[in-house]
Amino acid sequence: MKLIQCPLCGNNDQEPRLVKNGYQIVSCRGCHLFFVNPQPEEGELFCFYQQHQQLYLQQYPRKEIAKRREARRELRRIERLLGRGWISVFDIGCGCGFFLQEAVARGMNARGVDLAQSEVQYARDHFGVAAESANFLDSSYNPGETFDVITMFDVIEHWPDPVAGLVKCHSLLKDSGYLIVGTPDVSSAGKYLVEWEDWKPPEHLFYFSHETLIKMAEKAGFRYRGDFWRVPWRKRIKAVFQADFSEHER
Ligand SMILES: [Zn+2]
Repeated sequence: MKLIQCPLCGNNDQEPRLVKNGYQIVSCRGCHLFFVNPQPEEGELFCFYQQHQQLYLQQYPRKEIAKRREARRELRRIERLLGRGWISVFDIGCGCGFFLQEAVARGMNARGVDLAQSEVQYARDHFGVAAESANFLDSSYNPGETFDVITMFDVIEHWPDPVAGLVKCHSLLKDSGYLIVGTPDVSSAGKYLVEWEDWKPPEHLFYFSHETLIKMAEKAGFRYRGDFWRVPWRKRIKAVFQADFSEHER
């Protein structure tokens, strides 16, 4: 376990808020970002995901219809941003590949990455999509390889270093490319913070509000462009960002 300073504002002044699954969750007194602190070591996380990936895989087929419906809705919104056709999409956390397959069906050039080997195998075997099993944060990509859109749904809250992950996304986008981020909304945890289903350490290491997500994306060189939707009862944020190259050199 290692203590970290707030990755958003650099503050060391944090308020302990709750303990879940043996992990302490704090909020930063400077910027109100919620995160697990101390953070688990990489090896601990690796073991956790190894042990749990079979369980995820079992849950996936049950969720297929809902996930496909949601994927189509998201893809229609992407088409509204960029027009229909040969859009290059990179889906981080592609899981079993439903989103990728729906994107390919709409004529997009889609590929994805996921940490979970078994899910990526499922995506390839069942749908023949371009999915690779890797840790996005550790992977290197060809310098010329860029995308019109990067999507990541339910991913950023898992990352031990979300700022570095966002910076990496920025470097993989074409000029003015879009990043679409979906994550649980910590504002929906309520005043007393107790019974919120998305307190899930060590899976979820960071817990964003609309405000802290935007600030973090801006720190990585993005401009906030609006929300896919933001309905309080959904308890989720789905925000659209655009790569801003005016200050950040590729
Ligand atoms: Zn902070």
